[in-house]
Amino acid sequence: MSITKRFTLTAALPYTNGPIHIGHLSGVYIPADIYARYLRNKKKDVAFICGSDEHGVAIAIKAKNEGITPKQVIDKYDKLIRKSFEDFGISFDNYSRTSSKIHHETAQEFFKDLDSKNIFIEKTSEQLFDEEAQQFLADRFVIGTCPICKNNEAYGDQCESCGSSLNSSDLINPKSTLSGSFPIKKRTKHWYLPLDKYEGFIKEWILDGHKHDWKPNVYGQVKSWIENGLQPRAVTRDLDWGIPVPIENIDGKVLYVWFDAPIGYISSTKEWAKNNGLDWQPYWKDKNTELVHFIGKDNIVFHCIIFPAMLKASGKYILPKNVPANEFLNLEGNKISTSKNWAVWLHEYLKDFPDQQDVLRYVLTANAPESKDNDFTWNDFQARNNNELVAIYGNFINRIVVLTHKYYNGKTPVPDQYNDQDKEVLNSIKHFQKKISNSIEKFKFREALRELMNLARTGNKYLADHEPWKLIKDMPNRVNTIMYVGLQIAGHLVHLSNPFLPFTSKKLLKMLNLKSTDWNNIEGEETIKSGHIINSQELLFSKIEDSQIENQLNKLKATKNNNELKPVPPLKTVVNFEKFKNLEITIGEILFAEKIAKTKNLLKLNVNIGVDELTIVSGIANDYNFKEIIGRKVCVLINLKPRKIKGIESQGMILMGKDVSGKLSFISPDSPNISNGSKVH
Ligand SMILES: [Zn+2]
Repeated sequence: MSITKRFTLTAALPYTNGPIHIGHLSGVYIPADIYARYLRNKKKDVAFICGSDEHGVAIAIKAKNEGITPKQVIDKYDKLIRKSFEDFGISFDNYSRTSSKIHHETAQEFFKDLDSKNIFIEKTSEQLFDEEAQQFLADRFVIGTCPICKNNEAYGDQCESCGSSLNSSDLINPKSTLSGSFPIKKRTKHWYLPLDKYEGFIKEWILDGHKHDWKPNVYGQVKSWIENGLQPRAVTRDLDWGIPVPIENIDGKVLYVWFDAPIGYISSTKEWAKNNGLDWQPYWKDKNTELVHFIGKDNIVFHCIIFPAMLKASGKYILPKNVPANEFLNLEGNKISTSKNWAVWLHEYLKDFPDQQDVLRYVLTANAPESKDNDFTWNDFQARNNNELVAIYGNFINRIVVLTHKYYNGKTPVPDQYNDQDKEVLNSIKHFQKKISNSIEKFKFREALRELMNLARTGNKYLADHEPWKLIKDMPNRVNTIMYVGLQIAGHLVHLSNPFLPFTSKKLLKMLNLKSTDWNNIEGEETIKSGHIINSQELLFSKIEDSQIENQLNKLKATKNNNELKPVPPLKTVVNFEKFKNLEITIGEILFAEKIAKTKNLLKLNVNIGVDELTIVSGIANDYNFKEIIGRKVCVLINLKPRKIKGIESQGMILMGKDVSGKLSFISPDSPNISNGSKVH
């Protein structure tokens, strides 16, 4: 530590195609924030860097599916994600975006630099090309029959039915999801980073060099990647959303998102330095800088193999000192899933538990998936709040502050003689700073938090054991000592809580009338001097009721029921416009309706479609009273092959909306004046 002059801390760039949830917080952002706040409390030079990851095909597809531009997608989620980080006190020094100009320039320069050093291999290969859309197809834009399980809706990169990972060239009868047409094979050139050439470097640097100081889960993953052998990896791709490859006369190629995203740490640092009149270079180039990447386990390969290989290839940058990746957090026994809505979203949490950010920060740290996957449960959340934060931490602070006002009008008393127990307590609190520091420096945040709670426990027990409220009448001098010792514990808590519970620490600073937190000046010192006047008490934590927990569990139950009712179906095979045009849908008006005898839900309808009148049998009697639908304007599919139902020839189909419970609803024109027979496009 002694030669370390500064720290560059990065937290995984969140991908802007959705909001963030408790899994992200517990795996990456809370540990990174604790570390950053800890270092600042030790008065270290810190750059805590993050930003939104805004390129890649997933964003392009989401935009296409929602009929909006990629820019609209990223703007929406960048805003939401930033707000969540602010709300939870994640103290980035800079939060940037990979769509920013400074990042585009930085990433292009990085590419040009490696290209000029002849690091890349250029390879031409055949890839699928959509002639109608005039573009090469990313794997996700191709759909076809899985060669393994014959599912005919497999994607070019993966079959969601059997889980096999695929290449789009593996698919049988591949089709473009952009136009529905059959793509052709066309030759295209790409640039590859020859990772195989960096195997020796990674082996020596991590497998030999960090056997003992890196987390076993991270080390193990790197080892197995190396043992399986590294392959060259394309750094460019044919796509129109991303950073253009900075080479003349090539169109439609962008940097692969995995290549540009980690460079985002460097560009975000540049942006920060520029805004603060600093030089960014020492934060990435000086060997006395400690670079640490905070990530989840799904990102280990990028931060331990690929990005280091890029940094090494450039020859200009330092390598990370550590990559303390976490495992995954589950929710109530199930994997957190965005598509199944199985998550606790941060913006929703704050609606249900306003101003209780620190409770979530506390529980997620106490339960962090540091060495294995872990489970978040609402019952554990309630128990940790009620039994630890309220009953121990909050209770101790409340007592010490209220009694100081009651006995001394808020003025810290002068201690009398210490007995052995007082001396023992005063001696023990000196060691907490060191113990917590040691754990944090080993990235053992759960252990560090346990020590913090032990400090609060020490205070709570000390007051409970000595019961100053029973002695105040007869032994006021003894009470002076007890209260003085208690206030020293509270003083230590203010400082040491800051990295873990920043909102609580801020309230405590105000209550104890202190200016700022500082870990350098508390070891062995009195934190609150005799005569110092403290402010009045404020509520730190409040009990969480059973009904609040039931609400949360009911929400999850509803999600589960909904998922079971409606297993998210894969999208049906795409239909091109020609096929769609074959469907004749027009506006019609129901002229006549009657129930069909001996059926539960069938009605016989006569529908005017302008030039003609059709007889249609429709299964809507459970949802509509036949007498009330005469005169309704509806949408009718009029060229459906006629078929006999209960002996009646049905000559078309009324289009209906159907919700998850099966309830039907007419699709009706907005304007009642539209004439019968109007085309629906
Ligand atoms: Zn399959």
